[in-house]
Amino acid sequence: MLRVIAIDGPAASGKSSTAGLVAERLGWAHLDSGALYRALTLAALDNLGEEAWPAQQIVDLAERLPVRLVLVDNRFRPEVAGADVEQAIRGDRVTRSVSMMAAIPEVRTWVNAQQRRAVEGVKARGGSRGVVVDGRDIGTVVFPEAPLKIFLTATADERARRRLSQRGQTVDGELVRRESQALAARDAADSNRPIAPLKPAPDAVLLDTTALTLEQQVARVVELARGRFPG
Ligand code: C5P
Repeated sequence: MLRVIAIDGPAASGKSSTAGLVAERLGWAHLDSGALYRALTLAALDNLGEEAWPAQQIVDLAERLPVRLVLVDNRFRPEVAGADVEQAIRGDRVTRSVSMMAAIPEVRTWVNAQQRRAVEGVKARGGSRGVVVDGRDIGTVVFPEAPLKIFLTATADERARRRLSQRGQTVDGELVRRESQALAARDAADSNRPIAPLKPAPDAVLLDTTALTLEQQVARVVELARGRFPG
C-alpha cells in the first residue's frame, strides 16, 4: 500500500502547516509540492528574465542548476544550485508568477516526476514511514492511489486573515480585502487551467477549516490517518 497522505486545497488554506504537523506526529516525511513550483519560478526569474518562458528552457534549467528537493530532518526542502531557497521562494515576486509557471504541462510533468522519486526514496529507506504531500493536484493527478486524501477549504477572507497574521501584519479590513482578492485571483488561475486544475478528488475527505483551529484540523487528519494506516 502506498504510504502517502494527499492534502490539497486553495492558497493559504493551511495545507502546508497542517501537512507538516501531521507528518511530525506520524513520524513521516513532509513534501510541499508548491515549494517546487516556487523554486522553479525563482530560478526562471533569476536566469531567464521576466518574459515568457519556453517550457523546454525551464526544464533544462531545472536539470542544470539543479532545482531539487532535499530531505532534511523529515522535510523536503527546495534547493536551487545547492542553496536552500525556503525563504526566498515566499516573496511577492515569486508568488505573482508561480501560477503561470504551474500552468505549463512540461513543468508539471517534471515536478510530478520529482515528487514520485522523493516518495520512492523514503520507501526505499524501509520502515513504516510514509510521506504527507500537499498541493493542488496530489489526490487527483500525482498520487491518485493515495489511501487518504484530504481537501482543505476555508473562506477567502479567513485565509487572507491567516496569511496576514502569519506575516505579522495587522489584520485590518482594507488589507484583508486586498489579500483576499489576491488569493481569489490565484485560486481562479489554479482552478480554471486545463491541466491538473485545483479540485477535490472524488474520494477526498472535505474539511472546511474556516471555524477550526490549526490544532483541530491537525487532530482530525491524524485521526483519519491512524484509521487508514494501522500499525
Ligand atoms: O502551495 P503554494 O501556494 O505555495 O503553491 C504555489 C503555486 O504552485 C500555486 O498557486 C499553484 O499555481 C502551484 N501549485 C500547483 N500544483 C501543486 C502545488 C502548487 O499547481 N500541486
